[in-house]
Amino acid sequence: MAAFKTLDDLGDVTGKVALVRVDLNLPMADGRATDLTRANAVAPTILELADAGAKVLLLAHFGRPKGERHSTLSLSLIQGEMERVLGREIMFIPEVSGPVAEQAVGIMRAGDIGLLENTRFWPGEEKNDPAFAQGIAAIGDFYVNDAFSAAHRAHASTEGLAHLLPAYAGRAMEKELNALEAALGSPQTPVAAVVGGAKVSTKLAVLENLVGKVQHLIIGGGMANTFLAARGVDVGKSLCEHDLTGTAEAIMEAADKSGCTVHLPYDVVVATEFAANPASLRICNVHEVAPDEMILDVGPQAVEALGDVLKTCRTLVWNGPMGAFEIVPFDAATVGLAKTAAALSVEGSLTSVAGGGDTVAALNHAGVAGDFTYISTAGGAFLEWMEGKVLPGVAALEA
Ligand code: ADP
Ligand code: MG
Repeated sequence: MAAFKTLDDLGDVTGKVALVRVDLNLPMADGRATDLTRANAVAPTILELADAGAKVLLLAHFGRPKGERHSTLSLSLIQGEMERVLGREIMFIPEVSGPVAEQAVGIMRAGDIGLLENTRFWPGEEKNDPAFAQGIAAIGDFYVNDAFSAAHRAHASTEGLAHLLPAYAGRAMEKELNALEAALGSPQTPVAAVVGGAKVSTKLAVLENLVGKVQHLIIGGGMANTFLAARGVDVGKSLCEHDLTGTAEAIMEAADKSGCTVHLPYDVVVATEFAANPASLRICNVHEVAPDEMILDVGPQAVEALGDVLKTCRTLVWNGPMGAFEIVPFDAATVGLAKTAAALSVEGSLTSVAGGGDTVAALNHAGVAGDFTYISTAGGAFLEWMEGKVLPGVAALEA
């Protein structure tokens, strides 16, 4: 991996203006943030820079205003939440460049924190317009990107600015990049990947990338049904993309060629209806699924065998739940395998990195998120990284 600069590479920043790209796209209800994970994640970088004496200007997007001002999507709405998270006062600045922004920066003192307006109020942001980026760069001395979750977008505040000012990874970005490097960049082998979730079609590129990189590919969730069908298993009424069985076969062949073992469940949890603890619930071999049954989770024998596979591995990357974990007892395989992975991580034999919206929810549900080596909350950026894509926001930091 190309090297990137971190806050450790900054010299004396006293009185210098830091433009810090953060993810403040907080989920909101009734004007209040319902989850402060993203705000908490960027607090260390902001406080470190402020304490070092920089004037810290926060740059972020909020919702999808599509290049126009919308009062309902102003970042002023989260100023209060951010002040509570940081334990500091913040000055809200209703622009990102120009005389109003310049004046505001002029009255800030070393160590002050300013919150610039939603970058997506201007069409130049998503177009990565050089003139727009230059306007922002004009008010800053250096650029810090702490928003890995936005790094898959080549926007002015995520990519353009990195070419116009000295650019550094913030602490959250640094942690994320180091974790991802340890998981798939130059991992300790053997590496296992768990890929689950609803559909093969949403994760084709992930599967295609992983077969060439990992020694064990563990497929669970609804997508396992498509692979089972490709192997001639009758999956009954299960969620299954029958039109993708050819693709599933090609993935298994590619895996074979590159020495990657594909693990599919051999016992499964089935029911005729998708409800909590249904009367029709039973565990059976994959070859015994009845025409009116749905596979809703991986079976207990397979979970035990997969746990044994993890015990032989040094690295694990996980995206997607093993079953329909939102409804009991179809959470059992996800919870069981997650507990094994967590125990191995705590013991120190496994480096475990997981990401994905439902995956993070499932690991929280299992009560083991804190025991994984690293949990990415980045969503789209995490998936694109699992696809092996170059993320423009990261590439610009490495340039
Ligand atoms: P992530 O958000 O972590 O990337 P996905 O969105 O791909 O994960 O998949 C999560 C969804 O997959 C969950 O809603 C879960 O209920 C569903 N799912 C998992 N296994 C099955 C299954 N056997 N049948 C139907 N849905 C499933
Ligand atoms: Mg999802």
